[in-house]
Amino acid sequence: MENTLESKSSSSNFIKNIVVEDLKSGHVQEVVTRFPPEPNGYLHIGHAKSICLNFELADEFKGRTNLRFDDTNPLKEDTEYVESIQEDVRWLGFEWDELRFASDYFEEIYNRAVLLIKKGKAYVCDLTAEEMREYRGTLTEPGKESPYRSRSVEENLDLFARMRAGEFKDGERVLRAKIDMASPNITLRDPVLYRIAHTHHHRTGDAWCIYPMYDYAHPLSDAIEGITHSICTLEFEDHRPLYDWTIAECEMEATPRQYEFARLNVTNTVMSKRKLKQLVDEAVVDGWDDPRMPTISGLRRKGYTPEAMRAFCREIGVSKSNSLVDERNLEHFIREDLKLKALRTMAVLRPLKVVITNYPEGQSELLPAENNAENEAMGTREIPFSRELYIEQDDFMENPPSKYFRLFPGNEVRLKNAYFITCQEAIKDADGNVIELRCTYDPKTKSGTGFSERKVKGTIHWVDASQAVAADFRLFEPLITNEAEEEGKPFLECINPNSLEVLQGFVEPNMKEAAGGDKFQFFRHGYFNVDPKDTTAEKLAFNRIVSLKSSFDPSKA
Ligand code: ATP
Ligand code: MG
Repeated sequence: MENTLESKSSSSNFIKNIVVEDLKSGHVQEVVTRFPPEPNGYLHIGHAKSICLNFELADEFKGRTNLRFDDTNPLKEDTEYVESIQEDVRWLGFEWDELRFASDYFEEIYNRAVLLIKKGKAYVCDLTAEEMREYRGTLTEPGKESPYRSRSVEENLDLFARMRAGEFKDGERVLRAKIDMASPNITLRDPVLYRIAHTHHHRTGDAWCIYPMYDYAHPLSDAIEGITHSICTLEFEDHRPLYDWTIAECEMEATPRQYEFARLNVTNTVMSKRKLKQLVDEAVVDGWDDPRMPTISGLRRKGYTPEAMRAFCREIGVSKSNSLVDERNLEHFIREDLKLKALRTMAVLRPLKVVITNYPEGQSELLPAENNAENEAMGTREIPFSRELYIEQDDFMENPPSKYFRLFPGNEVRLKNAYFITCQEAIKDADGNVIELRCTYDPKTKSGTGFSERKVKGTIHWVDASQAVAADFRLFEPLITNEAEEEGKPFLECINPNSLEVLQGFVEPNMKEAAGGDKFQFFRHGYFNVDPKDTTAEKLAFNRIVSLKSSFDPSKA
């Protein structure tokens, strides 16, 4: 079956227009992009947008894309993240041309800093971080020049070499670009290029105790790799002049250009790695891949598919202004993707036992059922039926309001794929809770036999009690809602206490063999994924990906 989810050709956007122009004018011969994560956390859905943009742009014009780790801040980085990021990019469906690390270029980046010093474009500064902040000025006032700005080239070369050699403590000195302390663009007020950090690096070990800053290392890394279009998010717009300054003053052969697009933000979704890490570190969630996390690994474990995620990223497009995307957009695409693919079966999440008093004891039968009413090719299966069943607790009410068409004493309903049953009696425990229903069935009403004498208004689902398979069902709500966060409370006090609900119920017996990652539509409950971590030989665990229906239409949003 053809997957129509992604078949529409990707629409135009301003970055693509630039690429088209650049190819036409001969400014570039081949499009080369990169995805440059910092390995300080797991990737989230915002990163997915950047990944799709970079890889699909190069793909469309037969170019190349590198995966480059921006590993210039060893304090926060870890190989666990390096590995998870590669796994997530591959899972999303992309293969990089080259795997690179900014740390591969440390020697060259250092040599270019020496060049800047020799050209009188960089100097070693001894101001403390505090003093540097004071000297920097504000948006309305120019900065003040550092007293160390006029150091001689020789002194700067000597001090910088000794910084590298480890003669100074963390924070004692930095290397700064000599640009313009009065620039209206604060980024250009002699930005720091190198800082001292006596820290073990996950790749270079203890070879270095000075590390280049992002704004300096990034353009050089791009140039070294021959990146043509360096795509980043809007907050780097002000940094673009520094990007260009670095490329020019460091006399790089290649001249990559930076383009900025709006960050993806999704309603009721935390999108900062710092906060996500806090949720993991404080054990609010079960790791980075907790199904409630907006990480790629969390969404995967919840049950999202790469197809749905890519279709979502395409649909929301690439823009120049920040906005908040409705989370229902994402949900729309997983429903669309699974609609014709997922086996539709019955699961009872909050079980109530039903005994069919006129069904012979010890007898059972197999009833045919369609696997997907909208996709005949998925065929049929047989489900067992016998004297004892489970239905949902809320499919019975002792004193129903009008318009309640499900079970109540004396009422008749249709059991999906089976017979009509009539409720005769509700059995209660000592506290008055209904614990079992006694019903009768009408053998003439077997599903598919064309019986039409009586009309019933309600259809409910069920599973056979003697053969059903026990399962856990996990239902989710947002970890943090936009309303909760806006109150200005500390982040961890905004956690939704109802973000996870675990129910113990039953699924049809043919699901015994279901494996981690298998996806199903449960009649009336929505789409579920078999949790790959918590499913054991003894018990299945299902994550609800999304409920069945929504009136939300992304094309009209
Ligand atoms: P965070 O602020 O969540 O920690 P980051 O920007 O620091 O994210 P990086 O690892 O530096 O994370 O990001 C790698 C790439 O992904 C960058 O090019 C960045 O611009 C992009 N990116 C990060 N978050 C988003 C987002 N929400 N939407 C689109 N692109 C994003
Ligand atoms: Mg970053």
